Amino acid sequence: EVRIKDLHKSFGDNHVLRGIDLEIAQGEVVCVIGPSGSGKSTLLRCVNLLEEPGAGKVFVGGCEVTDPDVDIDAVRRRIGMVFQQFNLFPHLSVTGNLTLPQRRVLRRGKAESARIAAEHLARVGLSEKADAFPAALSGGQQQRVAIARALAMGPEVMLFDEPTSALDPELVGEVLAVMRMLADEGMTMMVVTHEMTFAREVADRVVFMDGGVIVEEGRPEQVVTAPRHERTRHFLSRLL
Ligand code: ATP
Ligand code: MG
Repeated sequence: EVRIKDLHKSFGDNHVLRGIDLEIAQGEVVCVIGPSGSGKSTLLRCVNLLEEPGAGKVFVGGCEVTDPDVDIDAVRRRIGMVFQQFNLFPHLSVTGNLTLPQRRVLRRGKAESARIAAEHLARVGLSEKADAFPAALSGGQQQRVAIARALAMGPEVMLFDEPTSALDPELVGEVLAVMRMLADEGMTMMVVTHEMTFAREVADRVVFMDGGVIVEEGRPEQVVTAPRHERTRHFLSRLL
């Protein structure tokens, strides 16, 4: 589970996160929505320490990641992250992309990492692409490889930052289907997305951020279909 307590983050004079409190229970799926620049990516990046939080605390699975003495690599091992840009290693095959981090970070052996890679490629429906190189795959396939690569590390939590925003519309569905499967299997997930259908159907909770604060949160049917705040209504009306 993830607990975020009074999190602040500034870049110079730009106070980007202004006191975020958010708890995500084990197995819960939380979608984070909000306008550009509201701090969604910064929030995710503070959870896995890609950004150093300014003030406040973040806990992942009971471990305080904001503890100054924390082992950053140990924290990152518990958290999978998937970005808008797939960030695959272009010079490695699909299998190589999945085995390299397992071997480097988890010190798994060659055979074990290959076995686990194959398992996760099968889960995302890409067993037949095991030997292909990223450039030979569609964007949707590349993103599914990126998800499989994160899963192969055995994360407790998965963070997604607009995982379908760089995809052609016809490829969005296959990636959302994989995310839906993960949600159904009980993965704890924090998903920044503009896909309101996904948020409505898959999220347990939707969080609307604006100006570095959480303006509103609740069940998806409440936040998406009956928002309480004018800012949320305004944001949603521009998406439709
Ligand atoms: P988008 O929907 O466009 O992805 P976002 O909600 O993810 O927006 P962030 O990327 O978190 O927003 O950015 C929030 C603010 O922080 C913006 O004003 C941005 O310019 C600033 N910011 C983000 N990262 C950095 C950085 N590394 N250095 C300086 N400023 C940054
Ligand atoms: Mg962003």
